[in-house]
This record gives sequence, structure tokens and C-alpha cells, in this order.
Amino acid sequence: MMLNMEHLQKRYGKYQALDGLDMEVPDGALYGFVGPNGAGKTTTIRIAAGLLKPDGGTIRIAGMDALQEPYRMKQKIGYVPDHFGVYDNLKVSEYMEFFASCYNLEGLKARRRCRTLLAQVGLEEKEDFYVDSLSRGMKQRLCLARALIHDPSLLIMDEPTAGLDPRTRLEFRTLVRELNEQGKTILISSHLLGDLAELCTHIGIIDMGKMVISGSMEEIVERIRTSRPIIIQVYEHMAEAMTLLKEHPLVRTITVKDQEIMVGFSGNEVQESELLAQLVAAGVRVRGFMREPGNLETIFMEITNHDEERVVLSYEDESGL
Ligand code: ATP
Repeated sequence: MMLNMEHLQKRYGKYQALDGLDMEVPDGALYGFVGPNGAGKTTTIRIAAGLLKPDGGTIRIAGMDALQEPYRMKQKIGYVPDHFGVYDNLKVSEYMEFFASCYNLEGLKARRRCRTLLAQVGLEEKEDFYVDSLSRGMKQRLCLARALIHDPSLLIMDEPTAGLDPRTRLEFRTLVRELNEQGKTILISSHLLGDLAELCTHIGIIDMGKMVISGSMEEIVERIRTSRPIIIQVYEHMAEAMTLLKEHPLVRTITVKDQEIMVGFSGNEVQESELLAQLVAAGVRVRGFMREPGNLETIFMEITNHDEERVVLSYEDESGL
């Protein structure tokens, strides 16, 4: 596991910004960390990058206890903050060489490393430009090149595409994907799920200081699918259907409306098809049988929409049984 954080707690005065947050970023993952404004992303990321101390919890990076070994940990991490500083009168090459010197890279070796990284982020032509004259997208790529100077295993980026236009966002995403393919583990945050859903191998959704759902894309897609009810339309023999459903071990909830039954069912597709077969075998005349479609975007909106009644990922609490 590249990054493992458990039970993180962080308060700002009376405000509980992180409330027992857990996060697992496997080796080689491209982990998208999503949540609405104020959910606690920056706080989490600053803790992971060793810039902020939590009030409680543990942080392990590549197996090391990050709170015990902050120096060794920082060698492993490259950090791209959510804002770019002001660098008056500094050329791109000077900027890069300055950060190289912070990692004891000097002279020809430093220049070579800086040049390679600038080429990697598509800024090789800009070496002699002043940093402040670069476009926002270029500054972001420069920041990325800087974060890679010491060849970190884990790259942590806080809302790197905020304020970029769609085309520049796309270019940045391509660059991030390339870095991941070259072996970097990447943790990237955004308040826009759409920014990350297609890019990432893993997703974690944070809300009000807690991780609400996390895992590989496949796991999450499956969990979302099974969190949606199966809608069964019965033409005849409703009572038989109800008897069978109430006794079924994978049925979590049943809600009946007219001739329609909404079933919270925690089985996979094979088990779904078996349920249908069992209903038919029990003499129930089934007219319709389908999972209500759900996708990551609707789940994200449901989780993070506090104005309306909260929809949870399991239907257990609404059990009609
Ligand atoms: P955004 O997407 O808006 O950047 P975020 O998910 O990164 O949000 P954080 O910046 O981690 O959220 O902030 C979490 C909560 O803690 C917010 O409500 C914020 O107002 C509060 N907060 C953050 N930093 C401080 C601070 N230094 N002092 C007091 N409150 C803070």
C-alpha cells in the first residue's frame, strides 16, 4: 500500500474538519479524491503531504510511519499545491534549478534533470521565459515538473485543474495519465467528479470530513449498481412474490406500491437472474424486472446534497420488513 491513513481527526477551533477519515491508496493507483467545497480535501492532502499535523490518526507511506519519519517520508512525496505562488523575476530554468538545489541536485546533473522534466511536461521551449509570464496551464505543468524533481513515488495534487479551461484540463489529464503509466502512484483531488471519473483507477468520496465511499472503479461501480433497488412488476400472485422475497437471504428491503415491488437486493447479476427464475418457478406472473440504473454522478449528487433528505448507499435503514 503506497498511502494508508486511518481515523484522521482534525479540528480548526471548534470546527471538526476531519472526523475519522480513512484512505487507502494502493501502489500504482491513480486515486481520485472527490468531495464538495469544504468537505476536507485540502486538509487531508496537506496531512498526507506532511504539511499539517492531524489531531489523531495514523499515516503510513510505503509502510513507513509518516509521523515518526517525516524526513524520509518527504523524499517519497511530490506535492502540487492548489495555488501557485508569485515568482517575480525568476526564469523557468532558474525556478527549476532552485528547487533542484533544495534536494541537493547541483550543476550539470541538476540542469539535465530539469531539462528532462521540462520536456516531459511540454515546457522545453520555455526555459528562458519568466515564470510569471506563463499561462495558468503552463504554470500548473511547471509546478508538476518541480514536484517530480526528486523522483517521488507518490505524487499528491490538490485540485490541479481548478481554473483551467477545458482544453488545458484535458492536456493536464493526459499528462497525469502518462505519469501514472510510467509507474507513479498519484493522488489527485477535485470537487468535480466528472474531472476524475474517467481518469482514475480508484475513487474516494469525502463528505463532511468522512470517507463516504472508496475503492477501485470496478468495486464502486458494482456497489452503486447493487445500491439501486430492483423494480419488480407483478401481474398476478403478489402474495407468493412477497413470501419468497421476505425469505430470500439477499433481500434487504421491500417496498410495495400498487403492483410494483422495489427490492433492495445485495446480489450480483447471476443472483439477480436466479431471483427472477425463483419468482417464476413459484408461480408469480412477472411483467417487469430490472435494476434502477444509477451512476457515479447521481450517487455523488445524492451523497453531497444536504438540502434534501440524505440518501445512503444501503437501504437498510428504510427497511420495510
Ligand atoms: P475546497 O474544495 O473548497 O477547497 P476542501 O474540501 O479542500 O474544500 P478544506 O480546505 O480541507 O476543504 O476545509 C475543510 C473545512 O475546514 C472547511 O469548512 C474550511 O472552512 C475549514 N478550514 C480549513 N482550513 C481552516 C483554517 N485554517 N481555520 C479554520 N477553518 C478552516
